[in-house]
Amino acid sequence: MSADRYRPLMEITHRPPISFVEGSGDWLVDREGNRYLDFVQGWAVNCLGHCPPVVTVALARQSARLVNCSPAYYNEPARELAAALTARSCFDRIFFCNSGAEANEGAIKLARKWGLRHRAGAYGIITFDHGFHGRTLATMSASGKPQWDRLFEPKVPGFIKVAYNNLEAVGRACTTETVAVMLEPVQGEAGVYPADTRFLQGLREFTRERNILLIVDEIQTGMGRCGTLFDHERAGIEPDIMTLGKGMGGGVPLAAMAATEAVACFEPGDQGGTFNGSALMAAAGLAVLEAITAPGFLEGVRSRGARLRQRLEALSAKHHLGEVRGHGLLLALNLQQVNATDLAARALKNHLLINAPRPDTLRFMPALNVAEESIERMVEILDRLLGEAIPTPSH
Ligand SMILES: *Cc1c(COP(=O)(O)O)cnc(C)c1O
Repeated sequence: MSADRYRPLMEITHRPPISFVEGSGDWLVDREGNRYLDFVQGWAVNCLGHCPPVVTVALARQSARLVNCSPAYYNEPARELAAALTARSCFDRIFFCNSGAEANEGAIKLARKWGLRHRAGAYGIITFDHGFHGRTLATMSASGKPQWDRLFEPKVPGFIKVAYNNLEAVGRACTTETVAVMLEPVQGEAGVYPADTRFLQGLREFTRERNILLIVDEIQTGMGRCGTLFDHERAGIEPDIMTLGKGMGGGVPLAAMAATEAVACFEPGDQGGTFNGSALMAAAGLAVLEAITAPGFLEGVRSRGARLRQRLEALSAKHHLGEVRGHGLLLALNLQQVNATDLAARALKNHLLINAPRPDTLRFMPALNVAEESIERMVEILDRLLGEAIPTPSH
């Protein structure tokens, strides 16, 4: 019955037969009226929770004024958002687009263009095992997901994958054909594995010495998710290119590729896209950026992150689980023998949305303004489910 109901939607993943009709803050409501506590938040997208007033008001105001005038013309929200992003980062130029994959495509194209101009046509990009950069052909080719190795062949050439957090491996892979190194400061889809701060610094030194570009994919880690506006800030480095997406629009499709002046070498015709940088999406982006850069907001992310981490560590100790990884409000808990996919499915039955990026790992990506009670509630549910999963030895 319910399978038929959703049949017109193309099957792209296994979805539970639940359809959501409303959301507010940390909570979602399905069409039967059940309430769910949401620790997925549209895959780290709803950075201010569901339907945050700052975003809904900005969208309502802007939609009554100007929705879209084509990227062939300037609009004020896009100009303001670009100015605000450049003022708060080491980048000078911003290209807006509609998805993370599209931002990364732009970054790859810009690196190749720069290579043509400044490095005699060098085009190779070093990326990392288990990395994730999106689902277009080029970004799948850049990704290091083992399950994708033989999918949709032939891949886009020009990507060499090496071990994460291994500077020597990068050195060995680098040739005269190499134009850039591209990485996530925390590998999110891989299961939340942070790059060592020393590794990020080492990469910056190495890429400068070799005169190649450093591209950071901050689609998941950026916009406050890890407790600073951008996660590369923790290493004190200035990359050449950065991509943003996910939380940037507070729920609406907005992504960006940022570059320094020296690298921003696109010429008219090289890059574009019908919907890019529309006034409506940019207005949502401005509202989000304003909220997360308001005094005290990022401190709040760090303290909520510390609380969540502490609760997860306590759960781990109590149930004999593994490590807690990540920064800010992008955290993962290794479950050791407990099956995370199975646990996430049982959590859903208990009206908790949680993600298992790997069979042994749970990932937590709540709203950046998640309520403390929501953290406690989520931990209580997990505690109970874990108690059922591993019967404690009899006393
Ligand atoms: C989600 C994600 C992407 C892809 O973004 P889409 O908007 O799904 O295209 C790319 N890189 C990283 C690190 C991501 O987390």
